[in-house]
Amino acid sequence: MSGNLGLCETPGCGSFASLQCPTCLKIGIQGSYFCSQECFKGSWKTHKVLHQLAKGENGNKSSDEYNPWSSYNYTGKLRPFRKHPTREVPASIARPDYALHSLGIPLSEQAVRGSAQIKVLDDEEIEGMRVACKLGREVLDEAARACDVGVTTAELDRVVHEACIERDCYPSPLNYYQFPASCCTSVNEVICHGIPDTRPLQDGDICNVDVTVYHNGFHGDLNETFLVGNVKPEIKKLVEVTYECLSKAIDIVRPGEKYREIGNIIQKHAQAHGFSVVRSYCGHGIHRLFHTAPNVPHYAKNKAVGVMKPGHCFTIEPMISQGTWKDEMWPDNWTAVTADGQWSAQFEQTLLVTETGCDILTKRLTNDGKPWFMDKL
Ligand SMILES: [Zn+2]
Ligand SMILES: [Zn+2]
Repeated sequence: MSGNLGLCETPGCGSFASLQCPTCLKIGIQGSYFCSQECFKGSWKTHKVLHQLAKGENGNKSSDEYNPWSSYNYTGKLRPFRKHPTREVPASIARPDYALHSLGIPLSEQAVRGSAQIKVLDDEEIEGMRVACKLGREVLDEAARACDVGVTTAELDRVVHEACIERDCYPSPLNYYQFPASCCTSVNEVICHGIPDTRPLQDGDICNVDVTVYHNGFHGDLNETFLVGNVKPEIKKLVEVTYECLSKAIDIVRPGEKYREIGNIIQKHAQAHGFSVVRSYCGHGIHRLFHTAPNVPHYAKNKAVGVMKPGHCFTIEPMISQGTWKDEMWPDNWTAVTADGQWSAQFEQTLLVTETGCDILTKRLTNDGKPWFMDKL
């Protein structure tokens, strides 16, 4: 996930701005920024109308009535819908540092940013990862069972949020660099980091749900792309090939392998089917930190640093697109979409390098470990 910055909302100001109105954050209004307390106070009279509008009009309103960025040219057909207010986590659940930071900044991650050194986990830490990843898998499975035609991604977010709390987990995306929801939901041309909203899923959509849970000091991270109703054969093929890209990449994970090799495997398979590999978002090291070394690109001829060793934990999470590999971001500063509006799929697992290969810590424990979309093929 990347940083969060906008332009000041005060008419005529135009300064870069990172302050967000606390009320907006609470009720889930996106893309509203101020450069300073002065601008915030000065704009209050006009700004607070936004709150009234949002509060009075929650629910499944069509995008015709909700158009937050009137001058933005969308690359595809998908539009943002109103967001549900950010959900609360009971105080009894332990949370990562950024959950308490007013700007959602993970200071523990930033302290080691720039270092390519990869942590080797000891037995106790490995056990911590096994537990967090198993719980993460249970949470994603709950989302999979709920995902269907007519269900909103906000409802999937509710399911994920409550499944986390039931398992004494903090939903890691929540407030990470101020991300406003408990998971990412990425529909159709959205590549990743989509924000759950009140748009009902439509027959023929694909929807990726990316879950990370934080439990007992460790993060477990996984995602799957789900088929919604009757999906066109060429889109099913995209989803299938994306899953194969992840599987083939996992097959080479063992001590001594270079991290940069993963991208060669993935791009070769994607290209053989006429698909492209997204370059802006990568797999990552994960343990006590959500995102850390190694950086794991999914494209060929990358310059990733590092060699796999037993005790390394990291994700592989290829994003494969029908058309161009290029991405752009919606003005909410999170939602990454394909630059040509064609669709994109993704799968992710958290892996532990063992003496002989790797363990898929977030593996599905039913149906032979196969992903959910295969249940519907
Ligand atoms: Zn993830
Ligand atoms: Zn990840």
